[in-house]
Amino acid sequence: MNNKNIFNKIIKKKIPSKIIYQDKKITMFEDINPKSPIHILIVPNQKIKSINKINKNNKNIIGYMIYKSVRIAKKMKFAEDGYRLVINCNKNGGQIVPHLHIHMLAGKKLRNFC
Ligand code: AMP
Repeated sequence: MNNKNIFNKIIKKKIPSKIIYQDKKITMFEDINPKSPIHILIVPNQKIKSINKINKNNKNIIGYMIYKSVRIAKKMKFAEDGYRLVINCNKNGGQIVPHLHIHMLAGKKLRNFC
């Protein structure tokens, strides 16, 4: 399937996905190809192509996405064990879906990569 609008379709429930949380601003759902036992994507409902498109008008969404990520980590009881939040940006950052998202990886000890 074309990656371009795939997250929009998930947000609007036009294609099936495992949505964990949704409100007016963001949607969280399970990654279809998990890289760790818990792999959640946190996505703004408004399409922002990448973190490069954050500006003074929309910057609050990033704080909100992180705040809600922490809330869900606590609710799902993996906050104390720990987790990793990742944002890939464009070609060199390994971004495939052009809709800003945070990866939340948890459920095992992750290898250090930087
Ligand atoms: P990125 O490489 O940062 O753009 O990550 C895109 C992520 O979206 C990858 O981890 C994919 O496994 C995930 N993904 C792609 N399509 C779907 C889908 N239909 N439902 C859930 N996750 C998806």
